[in-house]
Amino acid sequence: VTSGRKPQKPLTVHSGHIILILIILILLIMGHFRQGQRALNFASSALTSFVPPPPQILVHPGAVTDEAGLKIAYTAFNGGPLGELVQWSDLISTIYILGHHLHLSASISDLKGILGVNTGSCPPHQSAVEANLIYTDIIGLRQIQSVLQTSWIKYKCMIRVLDSFGTEPDFNHAAWAQKHNLKSPFGGFNLIPMQFYTMFPHTPDNTFLGFVVQHQLSSEETQQLKAVKRQNQALVYGKSAKFWEGKWAYLDTIHKYMEIHGTVDGSAQIPNYVKNHGIVTGTEVQALLRQSKVFVGLSFPYEGPAPLEALANGCVFLNPRLHPPQSSLNSEFFSRKPNIREVTSQHPYAEAIREPYVWMVDMHNSTDVERVLTAILNQSPYIPYEFTCEGMLQRVNILIEKQVGFVWVLMEFCHSTGRWPPPSALQVVKAEVGTSCKEACQRAGLICEPAFFPELNSLKNISHYGVDCQTSEFSDSHVVLPAYNIQKHCLFQSDPLLFSCVRSDESLIRICPCRDYIKDQIALCKACI
Ligand code: UDP
Repeated sequence: VTSGRKPQKPLTVHSGHIILILIILILLIMGHFRQGQRALNFASSALTSFVPPPPQILVHPGAVTDEAGLKIAYTAFNGGPLGELVQWSDLISTIYILGHHLHLSASISDLKGILGVNTGSCPPHQSAVEANLIYTDIIGLRQIQSVLQTSWIKYKCMIRVLDSFGTEPDFNHAAWAQKHNLKSPFGGFNLIPMQFYTMFPHTPDNTFLGFVVQHQLSSEETQQLKAVKRQNQALVYGKSAKFWEGKWAYLDTIHKYMEIHGTVDGSAQIPNYVKNHGIVTGTEVQALLRQSKVFVGLSFPYEGPAPLEALANGCVFLNPRLHPPQSSLNSEFFSRKPNIREVTSQHPYAEAIREPYVWMVDMHNSTDVERVLTAILNQSPYIPYEFTCEGMLQRVNILIEKQVGFVWVLMEFCHSTGRWPPPSALQVVKAEVGTSCKEACQRAGLICEPAFFPELNSLKNISHYGVDCQTSEFSDSHVVLPAYNIQKHCLFQSDPLLFSCVRSDESLIRICPCRDYIKDQIALCKACI
């Protein structure tokens, strides 16, 4: 599918244009009217050709292609993952609403047609596109690599990889990951970590893309939803029967206080007091949430969209704690993910929203569950701004225009010149030994901003920030640089792909690039809009 409207782009005058205009003026002044005239014609066509083309954006969700064999589109109706589909549809809608040229590919033959490879097998309406920006996922990236072979490198800086749980820089760096035994089938792509776009703001090394929680309803649907009355009812967050296994005692406790409803696939093994609606449409989920007081987490699936939908519809979310926190080091689910982030509850983003909207529970402690159930009151709806339609449009618009957009900007993004976010947003914080920049910035009410690492990565620059180095060297054997030790020996990063917000070192004090952020729009600094 190809669509788009032409966005209005201002004419950009480059230094080349100025030189050309000066030559024309000199030729005209010197009486070379014919040459001057010819130069004038050339200049006007050159000026026209210098107008940046509107971005041509290719969206290739590899996981939904038949070739990937995951059958995500088919299992959507019987308990399969839906979070990724929510994010893809929101991204596609956002790009379209923002007025960019959108090219959507859902198979390898579409991909070949759009990228101009072997177009003979493609539908006749397709023609090759000079893409400026490509949104895909890990599977799609592999497909792009196999379709384009070595020439995929031409597109490397244009690629944005939707990556729900995030990729930490050391897993992304192929040689480092191999040397340090950081095994993951999804790591080692040597992209810039900001090219990974996550579902929630997990690690500041990646870009937070997010999705939209608000549903756009017809006026009829809105009226129907308004008529729904809240009842003494809980809705269980578990569309597959296996999420319910071992959780019956927890549900029995909740059932003492309220009626329990579910949206579980088929005739699953669930307690017989549960009113099961089966897998239903998004609007029906909303109606059930508006009838309910509590949305009950079963500790799995992790980090999905549904808890935010519950809050948006005035439910509180029971968020099970994970003991011990789960990560790729101790959990089957996370074992292949390219990060070692510790997940402390079913939904860490919701955990940070806290009471009275989100209540942490120990599922295996009925006293704790009862404490929560007696404490919760009727709640007003709540959506963090970054998950509203406006918040998503604002964020994606700025990411397309500033982080990327056109090829020459992309190249700079690839070489991290740090032009965006604006340099004025940089605030330098020192992290105590054993503390990461993610933590140090967070403690200062800020967020780590990897785009600013190069700014702090030189002796001259860090002296402006009160770091007095006795000796110094560049090194590529740490993922915590720039940093210094108690002898004031400063270490700078010689491999920019190893800049990382999330690691710490027991003997090094990290020099951290932080920035402020708009409340409830963490992807953007205050001066970014
Ligand atoms: N959902 C739905 N029908 C259902 C249950 C869920 O349409 O019967 C929707 C839900 O509203 C949300 C999406 O599925 O928008 C993803 O939900 P979840 O948080 O379970 O994410 P996942 O684990 O599937 O990624």
